[in-house]
Amino acid sequence: MLSFKDRIVLITGASRGIGAAAAVKFAQAGAAGIVIHYHTQRAAAMEVASEVRRLGAASLVLAADAADQGQARALVDHTLEHFGRLDTLVANAGVWPAQDVPVTELEEAQFDRTIRTNLYGVYYLCKRAAQVFVRQRRGNIVIVGSTAGQRGEAGHSDYAASKGAISSFTKSLASELGRFNINVNCVAPGWVDTDMSAAALRTDPTELLKITEAIPLGRVASAEDVAGPILFLASDLARHITGEVLNVNGGSVLCG
Ligand code: NAD
Repeated sequence: MLSFKDRIVLITGASRGIGAAAAVKFAQAGAAGIVIHYHTQRAAAMEVASEVRRLGAASLVLAADAADQGQARALVDHTLEHFGRLDTLVANAGVWPAQDVPVTELEEAQFDRTIRTNLYGVYYLCKRAAQVFVRQRRGNIVIVGSTAGQRGEAGHSDYAASKGAISSFTKSLASELGRFNINVNCVAPGWVDTDMSAAALRTDPTELLKITEAIPLGRVASAEDVAGPILFLASDLARHITGEVLNVNGGSVLCG
């Protein structure tokens, strides 16, 4: 059975989208406490927290810029101060600059911002969480990557590079931390209908049709479609899985 009874879960970027859907699912699966991290949208984070509490889990709402090492570290430390433990980290926060920019035009400032949020942000969090997990000889990390990291994405080389690095970061941590009973896995979504992809999915029906036709299952994922696999990888059902990059893309990109 998939159960998170007694577990404390920290989810970054949980005020909306995939992170918010995961927070609700962890609460439904019996998690004892859920840390809902947000960047700027406090009101939305508070709504997720109230839904989580309605489902019977304790909640803690924390703000941080994940791209700042001190703030990322404080997220883990405040979780420990409040709940006394941390069992699962879901490193989900990320940015996808929506506009297509060819590499010939790509400004260093954008490249830097994307890598800083999507890669450094994950490194900061995983480093601090791993210190805690190694001490307690137990822990679970799920990182949200992307199909872009597996096959590249024209016009989004900054994003694809950041997510490609996430796959190898996941595998490195898995081989390094396995002996401490720590699982590290990655979920790699294709198109997901969230605020991040709204410019591509919600403005032009022709573009949406083109995207949908390239997906064998014939639909764009919902945030819940991605949250389920995150829970699976964080659960005891997946206790012998580590270093995995799990495709959640409707069959559009079939590689590990
Ligand atoms: P979203 O934009 O709704 O969520 C992203 C979250 O990350 C937001 O809560 C945002 O506040 C947070 N965030 C961004 N920059 C931050 C920063 N500097 N510090 C702290 N938090 C920050 O989009 P989503 O689709 O829910 O994205 C979640 C994850 O899924 C991301 O890592 C994204 O790259 C990945 N993903 C999304 C899609 C898609 O099509 N939506 C596809 C593949 C992968």
